Amino acid sequence: RSIDLKDFMKKIETKFSPAFTEKGMLLSVICRESITISADASRLEQIIFNLLDNSIKYSTAGDKTTININRTKKHVIINIKDTGRGISEEELPFIFNRFFRVDKSRARALGGTGLGLAIVKELVHAHGGTISVCSREGDGTEFEIVFKGETESENNTFG
Ligand code: ATP
Ligand code: MG
Repeated sequence: RSIDLKDFMKKIETKFSPAFTEKGMLLSVICRESITISADASRLEQIIFNLLDNSIKYSTAGDKTTININRTKKHVIINIKDTGRGISEEELPFIFNRFFRVDKSRARALGGTGLGLAIVKELVHAHGGTISVCSREGDGTEFEIVFKGETESENNTFG
């Protein structure tokens, strides 16, 4: 199934903005051109939801999350960046592991099981994509998801 990311992200922004506003945060989505990918909409939404859920949980009032959608000749890039608490260098390599959570006691108070990012990684891989992360403690966190772009000769249908 084809998804127009511009429409899709507009819906995501409308749907998730209230959760950000409620915490005194801001969500903004930037997608300048119409970009299409072959994907399952509900799975793509789960990927985005899990990442935005983290942005909200690990940030405080005044923080900001930005989703940027871009295209190169062969790839579609989804970048999700927040100005939240960030992740230390020691812990960053483990965040995609199942049940891994930074600072167990504080994390427990925030709720969750440590499965969110493991699921994100699995879903991205199932769709032939890759995910990477950059983060600095105190500064914020940036996730980049790269999918193959849609071409007529190629079939990269999700799931
Ligand atoms: P769940 O997603 O199952 O509710 P969780 O959020 O703790 O629980 P993950 O989403 O897998 O689990 O994230 C793993 C850990 O990585 C988190 O506990 C948190 O410490 C850290 N983390 C993830 N995303 C961010 C982020 N945007 N900013 C800061 N820390 C993050
Ligand atoms: Mg999570």
